[in-house]
Amino acid sequence: SSVAAADSVAVIGLGRFGRALALELMANGTEVLGIDMDESIVQELNGQLTHVVSADSTREEVLQQLAVPEFDRVVVAIGSDIQASILTTSLLLRFNVAHVWAKAVSDAHGTILEQLGVSHVIYPEKEMGRRVAHLVRGSMQDYLEIGDGFSLVTMAPPAGIVGKALCESRVRSTAGVTITAVRPHNGTWTHTDENTVIAADDTILVSGSTAKAEAFSLRR
Ligand code: ADP
Repeated sequence: SSVAAADSVAVIGLGRFGRALALELMANGTEVLGIDMDESIVQELNGQLTHVVSADSTREEVLQQLAVPEFDRVVVAIGSDIQASILTTSLLLRFNVAHVWAKAVSDAHGTILEQLGVSHVIYPEKEMGRRVAHLVRGSMQDYLEIGDGFSLVTMAPPAGIVGKALCESRVRSTAGVTITAVRPHNGTWTHTDENTVIAADDTILVSGSTAKAEAFSLRR
């Protein structure tokens, strides 16, 4: 019987990364088939994922039995065993799985995965390190780089814009960033307009180049 429902994802390797990913998918209503060689991990996650199976993902017949070729999204979250990561990934590509996501633990590992033809190579530690660097340097609460140096950032408002309407503080022309939305203390997010007045305990959502958003968060 097939477990590959339309909105389901297979996650292979349920270490720290794979497990967090699988549980987050579940929390948001996606069905997850989890696969790990380690029986104790499978027991631990039993009941928390739609299906959890103890199996060696480098064996083609095992993946066939688990209907993995029928999934259109599969994440390979095996890291430390690079050989297992590569063997598993190449089987998935041979099955023509449409969207393969694979975790890389080093640049060399990532390069091999890219050469194999993996469309989404993820570097969790490298990406998290880069992300945290921006949080450490700036005074941002959260930060998401969209690409090409453009970011969405949440932060406390710099003192200079507090108590003023956005048309008055002219943030876009003076700081080169846009305050897109605002959330009052204990309130919910709403879009801003030129008459929005920023309060000291608001959280603001800023969009702009990463460098300008960072500089804006440091402005006092
Ligand atoms: P993390 O850093 O996210 O904890 P690891 O690389 O340490 O990632 O963990 C990867 C997981 O993948 C482990 O739980 C391991 O048992 C599992 N794993 C490794 N090789 C295979 C394989 N061939 N088949 C299935 N699971 C595997």
